[in-house]
Amino acid sequence: MLVTNDFGDYAVLSAAEHEALTADALLLGHPRHADLEARALLHDTPREHWSDLESAAYATRKSFALDGPSLHIFVVTLRCDHSCQYCQVSRAAVDAAGFDMSLDDAYAALDRVFEAPAPALTIEFQGGEPALRFDLVRAIVERAQALNETHDRKLSFAMVSTLHHLSDDDLAYCRDHEIRLSTSIDGPAEWHDANRPNPGRDSWARTLHALARARAVLGDHAVSALPTLTRRALSDPKLLVDHYRDLGFPSIFLRPISPYGFALKTRRAIGYEMSDFLAFYEAALDYILELNASGEPFEETYTAILLRHMLTPFHSGYMDLRSPAGAGLGVLVYDYDGRVYPADEARMAARTGDDRFAMGRVTDALDTLMSSPAVRWLATGSVAETLPGCSECAFVPFCGADPVYHAAAHGDPIGDRANSAFCFKHKSLFTLLFNRLTDADASTLTTFLAWAMGKPRSDILAPGHVDR
Ligand code: SF4
Repeated sequence: MLVTNDFGDYAVLSAAEHEALTADALLLGHPRHADLEARALLHDTPREHWSDLESAAYATRKSFALDGPSLHIFVVTLRCDHSCQYCQVSRAAVDAAGFDMSLDDAYAALDRVFEAPAPALTIEFQGGEPALRFDLVRAIVERAQALNETHDRKLSFAMVSTLHHLSDDDLAYCRDHEIRLSTSIDGPAEWHDANRPNPGRDSWARTLHALARARAVLGDHAVSALPTLTRRALSDPKLLVDHYRDLGFPSIFLRPISPYGFALKTRRAIGYEMSDFLAFYEAALDYILELNASGEPFEETYTAILLRHMLTPFHSGYMDLRSPAGAGLGVLVYDYDGRVYPADEARMAARTGDDRFAMGRVTDALDTLMSSPAVRWLATGSVAETLPGCSECAFVPFCGADPVYHAAAHGDPIGDRANSAFCFKHKSLFTLLFNRLTDADASTLTTFLAWAMGKPRSDILAPGHVDR
């Protein structure tokens, strides 16, 4: 039995220990008494307030809540020369007119960025293919840096791109202005080219060529990559992991395909059940743990995020697993046409005609956007600790709320946990990882702690600390 408290402390109890605890019979002198008391899972006398230590622990875990939006996504153009199967509704043809962000809207969006109180701000360029408007990317970066001379925030930039259209000059600009690059590699050529058709049907080869150029200019670890997992990739987890290793990546981020952005017919062709993803994930994780045990450090990034929530007092910062949710409260998306959305998935839903997520326009003040009907509506499902199902779930200190998914899938932001793919995924992953923690050998514990703390395995001297 897993028991947890609001601060993320936990213990695994036998059925008898759990029964004694819930029957109020875990008395002084019981072998688990002192241990559970030390973890704030048991108090001998009723208390009305948290201790200062507990309040500090809670504040640490939720420190993102007072920052306001810290991730600002600029969709500088909707145009793209790829026609990816899972991105049909959020792209426009490469020569189409009227799908680029105007300079006025970009500058207005920057005013919103600096209205947010967050001490650290990230501006991320997305598309379409943002490299098609690298001139606009440069203008935004330079204006942001100029504004930051008075605002004095920790400012960082990122760009999600196929890399194909970045010249050496553009790459040097990314290096000089510390723009982190992220690209998509869906697996070997056959998989990638089937998922991501471009005019020459050579997307994989062009991506690898561009990756080599980018690494030559920016350094070996300056470009990260992410696979979008279609049904084909689920058939061979080892092949996918090996492809990333062969390309010199130190990690892979395994997440199921987003249910947004493509038509139902395509979803039937390339989509899959969450249970299929979970079987794939477990096989991939086992293989990656074997690699680490044999001395090759390689990370599964989503596991590292979950373990950080489970094994440390800190939140990972990951926007899609927050409570209060990231949507609208931690992230803002500025679309090419000047409309503002609380999440990229909300922008995609709007493209299919669901306008309930639109917060307003870039010219509206941040206060107006943040108090818009869309944000108020989403806020009803943004705090996991208050949601039916979540409020009584042992995993809630480590989990998050996804009001955009639940609004899109169930019709309202609160949603129904019993039929929620988001909940099924996280219940399954937390169960898997807690089982692994209680059964693990020293090597697995060392790997898990290294991932949770973002340190090399050699820094984990003794894999103690974990309840067994
Ligand atoms: S696992 Fe499900 S019920 Fe538990 S906190 Fe996460 S979403 Fe809520």
